[in-house]
Amino acid sequence: MSEAAATDVVLIGAGIMSATLGTLLKELEPSLSISILEVLSDCALESSGSWNNAGTGHAANCELNYTPQRPDGSVDISKALEVNTEFDLSRQLWAYLVKKGAIADPRDFIHPCPHMSFVWGDANVAFLKARFKAMSANHCYRGMEYSESHAQIAGWAPLIMEGRAADQPVAATHIVTGTDVDYGALTHLLFDHLAKQPGVDLSYRHHVRNLKRTDNRRWLVEMEDSATGAVKQIAAKFVFIGAGGGALELLQKSDIPEGHGYGGFPVSGIWLRCDAEDVVERHDVKVYGKAAEGSPPMSLPHLDRRVIGGKTSLLFGPYAGFTTRFLKHGSLTDLFRSIEPSNILPMLTVARDNVDLSEYLIGQVLQSKQHQFGVLQKFYATADRNDWRLAVAGERVQIIKPERNNAGALEFGTELVAAEDRSIVALLGASPGASTAAFIALGVLKKCFTDQLTDGAWLPKLKEIIPTFGINLIEDADACDRIRAETAPVLKINNL
Ligand SMILES: Cc1cc2nc3c(=O)[nH]c(=O)nc-3n(C[C@H](O)[C@H](O)[C@H](O)COP(=O)(O)OP(=O)(O)OC[C@H]3O[C@@H](n4cnc5c(N)ncnc54)[C@H](O)[C@@H]3O)c2cc1C
Repeated sequence: MSEAAATDVVLIGAGIMSATLGTLLKELEPSLSISILEVLSDCALESSGSWNNAGTGHAANCELNYTPQRPDGSVDISKALEVNTEFDLSRQLWAYLVKKGAIADPRDFIHPCPHMSFVWGDANVAFLKARFKAMSANHCYRGMEYSESHAQIAGWAPLIMEGRAADQPVAATHIVTGTDVDYGALTHLLFDHLAKQPGVDLSYRHHVRNLKRTDNRRWLVEMEDSATGAVKQIAAKFVFIGAGGGALELLQKSDIPEGHGYGGFPVSGIWLRCDAEDVVERHDVKVYGKAAEGSPPMSLPHLDRRVIGGKTSLLFGPYAGFTTRFLKHGSLTDLFRSIEPSNILPMLTVARDNVDLSEYLIGQVLQSKQHQFGVLQKFYATADRNDWRLAVAGERVQIIKPERNNAGALEFGTELVAAEDRSIVALLGASPGASTAAFIALGVLKKCFTDQLTDGAWLPKLKEIIPTFGINLIEDADACDRIRAETAPVLKINNL
């Protein structure tokens, strides 16, 4: 093995999360040396790839899983408000990069695309009405519209009303400020910009195999160069494990006590994709519905306009499924290899407590193509089967979090697991995902670069990049309005 090279920062994985964190770190401290290690031959080939995710700029406008109904019928929008304003952080980072010239044209990755929620049946209509009442009262959702009129909803999204019984109770909300984001294109843009900077080294086909602490408070990152088979090492002061579905295994290899007991529960995904121009041109929104009973919260069915590589298509799904792979390019043994003495009990309690979910996922795998198409027809009754084909989405590894008494809980969000000395942090989980990459990168800074933030060294620059850093946009309506008005024209998206 050759002698270890040295760097300030190692980012493991070339997805949107490493791209965002690397971009932010380099802006804040241009002298930092950063090495990015990616097992595959390019960036954004796993979850961040354009067709591997749904490309929704998640601002919790339309995703009904963020707004649970209380027993009294009212709707709790607190989680939605958090997600909504986390997206504002990404908007600010992207707008900064566009203004700086690091991204030439925002239309290369982001497009305006109204977001709708759509439901049918009396109980669901009552829920959506209560949700709209709560949301429209808050400045974060100014401009959201609500309708139970078939004609009005058909004006917003004609496909979903075609062939629908005229007396079916329906309701929809519509907000024009929604976006469609090509996270694959964005990841490429960010890495293109990063790789041009001095001190940045981006290595593809480098599989990180192990992580060891050294005596001088560094991490020795061991990797295999798949082009030559050579095993190499690099010593780093700070490591970000942004390996998506591969993060759990590397966290386990690091053996930091904070990572003990964590497990993962993989969920695969399939889309139906349509490129037929006459259909695509009649749907310029993203329409999210209600999740089926027993399904995981992120598997809300939605019919979306997507703009990828300048071409427009429609996507419907996801059909979630059971898998034992943690990555699309992973191995069928991933799930089994992740089982350790420290997480076996948490994993078993999650298995015991989530029988409905397992049954749902296995049921999805066994669904016939006819049945899958039937789900689309509940949304778009006159869909023509010949216009649609299957596309395989990315994998999502949900977090199994250790709890007291060796129990475990299944979590559907994301979590940063950091060592006490702040020298290493792993990102687990996948929701709300790429949309909140800036929020997650800021979370890494707050956890691991506290000194640079508190002694003020990085603060002025950080506030230049993200002017509302430290301001709660859920409470400060003026700041929220101001920053949206500033970022919208730069990103060429709609504002109200
Ligand atoms: C079906 C689906 C729909 C989604 N829809 C949305 C959406 O609409 N909006 C949204 O905001 N988010 C969405 N997401 C979530 C979003 O895609 C992810 O949160 C985000 O892409 C994760 O980025 P990442 O950089 O952490 O991981 P990834 O993009 O998966 O990148 C991780 C990288 O690490 C590499 N790697 C792994 N192990 C190693 C190793 N040992 N050595 C070296 N490299 C390694 C992998 O090859 C990969 O390139 C969706 C996800 C899925 C699966």
